[in-house]
Amino acid sequence: MPTILFPSPIFGPVNSRRLGVSLGVNLLPENGKICTFDCLYCECGFNTQNRSHSPLPTREEVYKGLEEQLKKMQDEGRGPDVITFAGNGEPTLHPNFAEIIDDTIALRDRYFPKAKVSVLSNSTMLGRKSVFEALKKVDNNILKLDTIDPSFISLIDRPNMAYKLNAIIERMKEFKGALVIQTMFLKGEVDNLQIDNTTDQYVLPWIETVKEIAPREVMIYTIDRETPHKGLKKATREELDSIVEKLHKAGLKATASY
Ligand code: SF4
Repeated sequence: MPTILFPSPIFGPVNSRRLGVSLGVNLLPENGKICTFDCLYCECGFNTQNRSHSPLPTREEVYKGLEEQLKKMQDEGRGPDVITFAGNGEPTLHPNFAEIIDDTIALRDRYFPKAKVSVLSNSTMLGRKSVFEALKKVDNNILKLDTIDPSFISLIDRPNMAYKLNAIIERMKEFKGALVIQTMFLKGEVDNLQIDNTTDQYVLPWIETVKEIAPREVMIYTIDRETPHKGLKKATREELDSIVEKLHKAGLKATASY
């Protein structure tokens, strides 16, 4: 099964569908995945297939690696549009996530002050105060909310910790608009069940909740590469466009990646 594991702690720059020229920061080991979800669509594979016993990169290693890469890009005369925390799992699990965000903002200000700092998170660690406060400092606080249906989340995102959807939604509201909601739309067969979160049954209550959260923007997307679970299919361009239109009608800024 082809899966993608990223180098650690720094990878790229890569051209991101959604973010432009992106220099990646991976706070997880390079030889495995660590996440509080185990999404059926995860490009890094299932948690059990790519388990790592290597230590996480230290704050010092991240600082050194990031500064080296930014210096190199400065010498080459091409800067990143964005420094993106993503990689082999959930970045906010790193115990020094908050300090690393402070370091990154300082390095960004020194080398490429126009570059944005983005974090792609599955939202499960928002209850940790240091994570919440750190996410308030970044330019693009991109938080996953694939649906508000708990059974769909259990089936597709598969949390492996106590997952409190309502608490996460309340925490999202506390960002007071300084967040981007990111939602994966897909369909297919899982455990002999037909699943499809592009239907109104899922989309309409999700939009009502997103309205309450009042994010700066909503980014919707679908599967881009082979997924570890074989029964999944892409949402169509028409389905994504229709969801974007509903979001616009609800007064929300929204974009789709196909
Ligand atoms: S939240 Fe992201 S990293 Fe974690 S399992 Fe899902 S897709 Fe993979």
